[in-house]
Order: sequence, then C-alpha cells, then structure tokens
Amino acid sequence: MGKPGNLRVFIDGFIADTLERCTRCGRCYEACPMTPYAEHLKEAAAPAVVSDLLEVLRGRAASEQALDWIRVCTQSASCIDACPEGINAMLMLRVGRIAALGSLGGARRLEGRDDPLFFRRITAFAETQLTPDELARWRR
Ligand code: SF4
Repeated sequence: MGKPGNLRVFIDGFIADTLERCTRCGRCYEACPMTPYAEHLKEAAAPAVVSDLLEVLRGRAASEQALDWIRVCTQSASCIDACPEGINAMLMLRVGRIAALGSLGGARRLEGRDDPLFFRRITAFAETQLTPDELARWRR
C-alpha cells in the first residue's frame, strides 16, 4: 500500500486531535442554526449528538442524530467561534461527512453522489478553512 497523501494525513491528524481535545460540551451544536430543520434532532441533547458525531469520526456506527447534523450543515461557521477548545467544529462536521460517505475506508452510512472531484473539492475547501499554521503543516 502506498504512503497516504497529505490530505489524508491531515484528516487523520485532525480526527486524532479532535477526539483528544473535544470535551463534548455541545456548544458547537447549540450554536448551529440548522438543527431545527433536522428530522431527528428535535429532542436531541447537544452533548449526545456531539458524542455520536465523534463515533462517526472514529469510523464506528453512526446514529441518525449524528447523520442528521451532518446532513443539515450549511457551513454557516457559527460553531467555530462557539468552541472553547479552539476546535474547528465546522471542519469536524465536514470530516464527519467524509467518514459517513465511506471515503475514509469505513462503511458508507450516508447517501451521496459518486463524485470523482470529491477530494479536489475538499482540498479547495480545506485551503479556505485552515489557519496559516494548519495550512503550513498540511502542505509539509
Ligand atoms: S464546542 Fe468544541 S469542545 Fe464543545 S462539543 Fe463542540 S467541538 Fe467539542
């Protein structure tokens, strides 16, 4: 098997860092303006939904709540400033989507178009979302 590309290395690093630092406080979820539009999030508790999303990042089974949050994300970025740990929660959702689509090697849990440009789009997206330090590490 070949050496993983820089983007995969960055995503794996982002997942590991998020799993280590996220306290599941739920503030990113509470700041999200889209949750009222999700079918399975009406009675959801913020820490539980975040915990479920972290399971998706781990490549484990995804709850309907976690999938719904991923589905309704419009990248408003409201979650980013809400995180007291400095985690880019919008990127956390985006990586969750990649994982749920099966693009990180796990089972596919979310329907999506097969898109040969998927990773090119993610690359362009990532370049607009990363801090200068993150960008420098990613390009190393
Ligand atoms: S706000 Fe930050 S620490 Fe709190 S649940 Fe969201 S990502 Fe985790």
